[in-house]
Order: sequence, then C-alpha cells, then structure tokens
Amino acid sequence: MSSLIGNDIDAYCTKCRLMLYHIILVDRDNVVSRVKCKTCGSEHNYRSALPSPHPAKGKKVKSGLSNTPPAQWERMKNDLKPNIPIKIYRTHDTFRLKDVIQHHVFGLGFVEQIISDTRMEVLFSDSIKRMVMNTEESSLRPV
Ligand SMILES: [Zn+2]
Repeated sequence: MSSLIGNDIDAYCTKCRLMLYHIILVDRDNVVSRVKCKTCGSEHNYRSALPSPHPAKGKKVKSGLSNTPPAQWERMKNDLKPNIPIKIYRTHDTFRLKDVIQHHVFGLGFVEQIISDTRMEVLFSDSIKRMVMNTEESSLRPV
C-alpha cells in the first residue's frame, strides 16, 4: 500500500484558521491523521473541513417522545380555538388553569398547573417554566 506521507493536501489549519495546503506527516491505512501547514509550519491533526461554527455537542436530542414540551406545546397550539383570549403575562395578574398567556420573551404559553396563589407552571414552546403570578410587588414586573 502506498503512503501519502509528504504529499500535499488541502486541509484546515487550526492556527491560520483557513483552508490551506498542508504536507501529510502521518497516514494510517491511507487515512491522513497528521499534517503540517505549508503557510505557518504548524503541525496539527488533519481536518478536512472548516469546523462547524455551531458544534452539535451538548445539544439535547429527545426524539420519539411525543410528550416533550415542544410536541405538547405544538398540540396545544393547534387545538387553540380562535375565540380563546390570550392574556398578556404580567407578574401581578392572576391566572387560572388552562389559561393561555403571551410572555414577552417565551412567547405563547399554556398554564399547566397552579402550584400556589403566586406560582404556576406554564408550558412554553421549549419547556415548562415555573412562573410567578399574583404578586403585589410592582418591582417584580418583568424586565
Ligand atoms: Zn497554518
């Protein structure tokens, strides 16, 4: 099997942060694993492409579950009747179970549970959030 060592290869330079010509330093079974940048001379592991600006690692993947907040929220939104009043969420207002609210950040929400006189759980498009309500403190207004 012929070696690729010493050949030029177009690779991503981790130092120059550009696609540049590199010299192949190490190959294993014709898979390039280490290269040297012809521009800056740095040796690094071979990357065939620019790194993704948004790495997928750490991303929550919940597939196949229809009861995740997004799926549930989608269903609630689809079932929403046009005559249902949507209340603007304000911390000093009181909400009831099944109320539909509009939050200035989280968007459309459905009151899922009343925990106490001042606490409720609201289903938003990405998650269920615990929200305050019925507060007398005007300083607790949403920012
Ligand atoms: Zn370089």
